[in-house]
Amino acid sequence: MNQHARLDARAIPFIDVAAQRRRLDRAVDEAVARVLAHCQFIEGPEVRNLEAELAAFCGARHAVACSSGTDALRLVLMAWAIGPGDAVICPAFTFCATAEVVILAGATPIFADVDAETFNIDPASGERAVATAKKLGLKPRAIIPVDLFGRPADHDAIAAVAAAHGLLVLDDAAQSFGAVYKGRRLGALAAATATSFFPAKPLGCYGDGGAVFTDDEVLAARLKSLRVHGQGVDKYDAERIGLTARLDTIQAAILLEKLKIFPEEIAARNRAAQRYSAALEAVATVPRVGDGATSVWAQYTIRLAGGRRDALAAALRVQSIPTAIYYAKPLHRQAAYRRFPVAAGGLPVSEWLAEEVISLPMHAYLDEPVQDRIIAAVRAALKG
Ligand SMILES: *Cc1c(COP(=O)(O)O)cnc(C)c1O
Repeated sequence: MNQHARLDARAIPFIDVAAQRRRLDRAVDEAVARVLAHCQFIEGPEVRNLEAELAAFCGARHAVACSSGTDALRLVLMAWAIGPGDAVICPAFTFCATAEVVILAGATPIFADVDAETFNIDPASGERAVATAKKLGLKPRAIIPVDLFGRPADHDAIAAVAAAHGLLVLDDAAQSFGAVYKGRRLGALAAATATSFFPAKPLGCYGDGGAVFTDDEVLAARLKSLRVHGQGVDKYDAERIGLTARLDTIQAAILLEKLKIFPEEIAARNRAAQRYSAALEAVATVPRVGDGATSVWAQYTIRLAGGRRDALAAALRVQSIPTAIYYAKPLHRQAAYRRFPVAAGGLPVSEWLAEEVISLPMHAYLDEPVQDRIIAAVRAALKG
């Protein structure tokens, strides 16, 4: 065996999609084969079954499957007729899609700061963002909290801000489907919740996919119309301007198989996270999950002050242990988003988190020997 092969054998995947694929093996092959046999590639029976199962899983009355997490967010803003002159509050420390959809709708995102412990939107900064919007002559219409890295945001506090200012709440649960807040799964908390089935998300498909959850029957019907060009009761009757934003039947068939093992996978992620935290809390700031909440650990992200993050990444890299930085730049510092307003008081937490966060490998198939190898490497690098 040459040296490269030896290194590869020891290389740890950051997210191991292949391990799950091996576990599901024939179940997925057969699910796909059933679709290949019936040939209803668009809006086949698996899509309706998946919607029913997803809704039951999270406790929402309606699930509307669609083409991606980004489209899930976008469809809701379209259904709510959010557009020019409107402001939508969103956190600055998130993936760009959260704010991108607001701009695509023609509205203005107002960036709010996040909480240093949970990395989720700080409700007080959200409130200041509402005032900023009004000062700019915009109409605050909605707030998009993000449940970052799998952890629920402070939904009660966000609901209070929303109620005080007449805002609609669109929960961006792209990284956190399956997480629980005060005894309820995400999907049943906000007026609308969007999630993503991108392969690396906790519940991923084998391509792009997403869904919206809501208890609002009128909204669900509008979303179903919007995902098919705004179609009315009749197929060629266009009631509104929409998109092509459906979920493929093959992806739905795959997700139905994955959903069966999802609770076990969430438990495995939680076991790994607990072992990481117990072993690393002496050397780094480990993630804290809020009271009454559970995370699905889309990422396991620690904080390191004083510029030690890059040295840790380098020390792990030579041992074939990958790390990732989510997010090295908050949105208001990105070229495409710089021109949009930020909440009064600025976004200091988002800015320093971008300097301090680093994520370790995390997935449901991270076995204990591999966890121990990662833990030992992190402890050695940080003690040295
Ligand atoms: C992944 C992600 C999205 C977008 O989901 P896609 O399926 O990739 O379009 C939106 N918001 C957040 C926070 C995400 O992490």
